[in-house]
Amino acid sequence: MTIHTSEDQGQIWTAIVARNRDWDGRVFFAVRTTGIYCLPSCPSRRPKYSSVEFFSSADDAERAGYRPCKRCRPEQWGRDAAEFRRLMEILLDQQEAVSSVEEWAAAAGISPVFLLRVMKRFTGTTPKRVIMEKRNNDLKELLKNGETISASQFAAGFSSSSRLYEKAVSHLGMTPRKYQNGGAGERIVYDFLNTPLGRMLMAATEHGVCSLKFGEKNHELLKELVCEFPAAKIEQQTGELDLWIEQLNAYFSTHQRIFEIPVDSHATVFQLLVWQELRKIPYGEKRSYSEIARSIGKPKAVRAVASACAANPVAIINPCHRVVHSDGSVSGYRWGIDRKKALLKMECDESKDHN
Ligand SMILES: [Zn+2]
Repeated sequence: MTIHTSEDQGQIWTAIVARNRDWDGRVFFAVRTTGIYCLPSCPSRRPKYSSVEFFSSADDAERAGYRPCKRCRPEQWGRDAAEFRRLMEILLDQQEAVSSVEEWAAAAGISPVFLLRVMKRFTGTTPKRVIMEKRNNDLKELLKNGETISASQFAAGFSSSSRLYEKAVSHLGMTPRKYQNGGAGERIVYDFLNTPLGRMLMAATEHGVCSLKFGEKNHELLKELVCEFPAAKIEQQTGELDLWIEQLNAYFSTHQRIFEIPVDSHATVFQLLVWQELRKIPYGEKRSYSEIARSIGKPKAVRAVASACAANPVAIINPCHRVVHSDGSVSGYRWGIDRKKALLKMECDESKDHN
């Protein structure tokens, strides 16, 4: 992020005073009187606002002549974040059952002390506690794994209210935020697009696109958005979405294959895992529901995968249209099977032209 407005600075300072860990890595603060820079979560005493300076990276702070704090180790944040991500991947890996701190450290090839440090930094708790949380989730799932449960119950069972899980997944490159109270306090901007397959509405929070949907009429699309986020402040965009809309237009006209568009998801952890997997399917290719289930380490969750695809709020960017039945037959698209077929055909024709 770039920090220039006083509004940004006020928000950052509030986070620093609250020692808000969520801001670690996004901003670094330096104290002119001591020459030291810290992470927002640093336990050290807070300086006067008038003597702080903000940086968006540790390197920037060092270039400005500041030294890293010995308590919060801001210069190691980036490396530790990568390590945290790797550690959570090992823990969440269903094949590799990790049941003790020692096993976890050994599986990662690091010392238990280092494991403790990284977990403390990113979750505020111990590795032991993290394993317990993981186990509780497994247990819930196990109990739900009866034959009579529906796919949606399964998916719901996997979703966890645990902050820890959210943190973990958030460090895995997603933003699972819950829009409690229908988006209260959120500002959502939207705009309409004309595509060869009909009208679309794109809507975004300050974190990224939260909705991209096909429809027939503007007012119907807008009504749907308002129903989804009844308490949010919803406004037509004034340029904020232009770059992303341009990419969507390029997808339809010149067949741009890759999007650089952040997604702000309102979802369960299970849905996020599925949607992230969708984004790995290359343009012009298809996967089956069972392939997706296998690749997220839930081979039996085929129906839950199908439900997660059906619940996808961000068409095309989360390319749920690239998921078909194992026999190749196309069914089930939230915005009509004809649109799904048309998207697949467009991508397939275009890929052939290139090969
Ligand atoms: Zn510090």
